[in-house]
Amino acid sequence: VAIAHDDAPSPTLILDAGTGIRSVTGLLGEQAFSGTILLTHLHWDHVQGLPFFHAGDHDDARVRLLLPEQEDGAEATSVLARSMSPPHFPMEPDQLRGTWGFATIAPGEHELAGFTVLAREIPHKGGRTFGYRVSDGRSTFTYMPDHCPTSLGTGPDGYGEYHPAALELGAETDALLHDSQLLTLAELAAEGRFGHAAADYAVELGRHAKARRVLLAHHRPDRADDALDALKQRFADTSGVEVIVAAQDTVLQL
Ligand SMILES: [Zn+2]
Ligand SMILES: [Zn+2]
Repeated sequence: VAIAHDDAPSPTLILDAGTGIRSVTGLLGEQAFSGTILLTHLHWDHVQGLPFFHAGDHDDARVRLLLPEQEDGAEATSVLARSMSPPHFPMEPDQLRGTWGFATIAPGEHELAGFTVLAREIPHKGGRTFGYRVSDGRSTFTYMPDHCPTSLGTGPDGYGEYHPAALELGAETDALLHDSQLLTLAELAAEGRFGHAAADYAVELGRHAKARRVLLAHHRPDRADDALDALKQRFADTSGVEVIVAAQDTVLQL
């Protein structure tokens, strides 16, 4: 997800670096990227686009990459290099062209790329994961692409309980982008162990937190367009919150 200020010609804050980050190069024209990349966690689907982000891997790029403080206290570059180094990959993070800085970030409030960002640890699976609430003082955007409810099988309709950090990040936000990898209770039972949430949970969390919009995202890789169209229909009449099925190139004006 790439975020730009209202008056800025291009994004300065990028949330996560999966393969979708390649398309941010197109948003920048011929310009190198100058700004912050903020990672929620280190799973493959959130970092693998990094070396293919041409506007970042550029002689004129100025990039600050931040990732959650690790439980073992490891430095940011060494954590990234665990998946981005030989024999897994031909190069290491510090071989990216341009000026790059790597650091860890703690839970709490931070000023990043002219935005106020609240970071909170949220339940996922396999490594520390943060959710973020980004504000420019007028609008807020909440980002929780990977988040599973606590106590699967409990809570409203059996989709799980709301975690206090998820509620705090999503409180009265203008847009809540949330994990929607799973669609049914049966999928949740079979695949919930991977740390993802069901669409109904995401929508109900949004309603509960009084979010204005919920963007369902992080679709299961085999979910084709028809399935996403059906998802859109399913929540078309949801009251109290607008439900958007997010896709690549979705643009939101807040
Ligand atoms: Zn993940
Ligand atoms: Zn993920």
